[in-house]
Amino acid sequence: MLARFQEDRIYKAGLGSIYKKTLEAQRLTAEEGVILYESRDPLSVGAMANIIRERKNGNFAWFNQNMRIDYTNICDKRCEFCAFSRASGDTGAYTLSPEEIESFASQPEHDGVTEAHIVGGVNPGLPFDYYLELLRTVKRARPAIHLKAFTMVEIDQIINLSPLSPPETMDALIDAGLDSCPGGGAEILCERIHRTLCQRKIPPERWLELQRMVHRRGLRTTATMLYGHIETAAERVEHMIKLRQLQDETGGFLAFVPLAFHPLNTRLSHISFPTALDDLMNIAVARLMLDNFNHIKAYWIMLTPSVSQISLSYGADDMDGTIMRETIAHEAGARTPPMLSVERLVALIRETGRTPAERDSIYNPVRVYNA
Ligand code: SF4
Repeated sequence: MLARFQEDRIYKAGLGSIYKKTLEAQRLTAEEGVILYESRDPLSVGAMANIIRERKNGNFAWFNQNMRIDYTNICDKRCEFCAFSRASGDTGAYTLSPEEIESFASQPEHDGVTEAHIVGGVNPGLPFDYYLELLRTVKRARPAIHLKAFTMVEIDQIINLSPLSPPETMDALIDAGLDSCPGGGAEILCERIHRTLCQRKIPPERWLELQRMVHRRGLRTTATMLYGHIETAAERVEHMIKLRQLQDETGGFLAFVPLAFHPLNTRLSHISFPTALDDLMNIAVARLMLDNFNHIKAYWIMLTPSVSQISLSYGADDMDGTIMRETIAHEAGARTPPMLSVERLVALIRETGRTPAERDSIYNPVRVYNA
């Protein structure tokens, strides 16, 4: 329930029926999702999203201690919005060897890290065994760590390389240490966007099919949405509805992660960066539409720490983590630091009035930082 003046504002903005449904925990339609995006009153949209955020997560703002391992930037998919990938032989192209990965994961600055987030390009030169060895190497260096590895785009490539069936391939990855999968590669789950921006990459239906298969093998995943390029509000909502349907079916998604498009060094560099208002509206609409997702992440690397702070009142309940050296968004112009310390994350969350809570990769509380 909101204060009277906030309710008046919502009704004046023409959002009264959505507000009633929000209070009664009723599911919103696609048409209502578009109405929210087109609303000229983002404060009201945020206030409604905050009701659900607090219903699901109270005053907690979650984070974890994670590190990134971007094992190769060689990729043959050539997505229009990508500044990270290189062709084999290009200046700056790299693939980490198992020895380099072990050395990186073992560095003392990673003591305390509970999750390795492992992603890379689709490098046609890598054999199936490389992926298994990559997982085993990180587990050897950090036996207690949770391995969140390979988007559905990479899973598709691994399945294509594997001599095993798709379920057996997943089991082999799990035996090698895979604990969950990240939600990248979804972009906008819509045929037009796929055809226009990333037609060499797996199509939306394949991304969803692989997510379904991964969930059925017992692994949890996240789901992303890359916004701020050529997509329409209706296409963003279509994306969310597809995720919501799959979540109804499997319950396998842990969190939704909106990703702000960064245009620098991409073939879409004529497009402007999304504004802070775009960022907050995507968080808020996602929180209102995705009623069966427990968590909405503010990925501070792309949003900036200060917009992430505001987003904790616009529907987000999770500040991602320490990250420990991000490269993909920074190649595309991110000006955020490549990592944040636990102390800094805790301080940022405290400044918002929320209670910082460290979590593990599947949202079990690790430590609550009471005042
Ligand atoms: S977004 Fe991913 S799949 Fe597309 S070119 Fe970049 S690294 Fe490759």
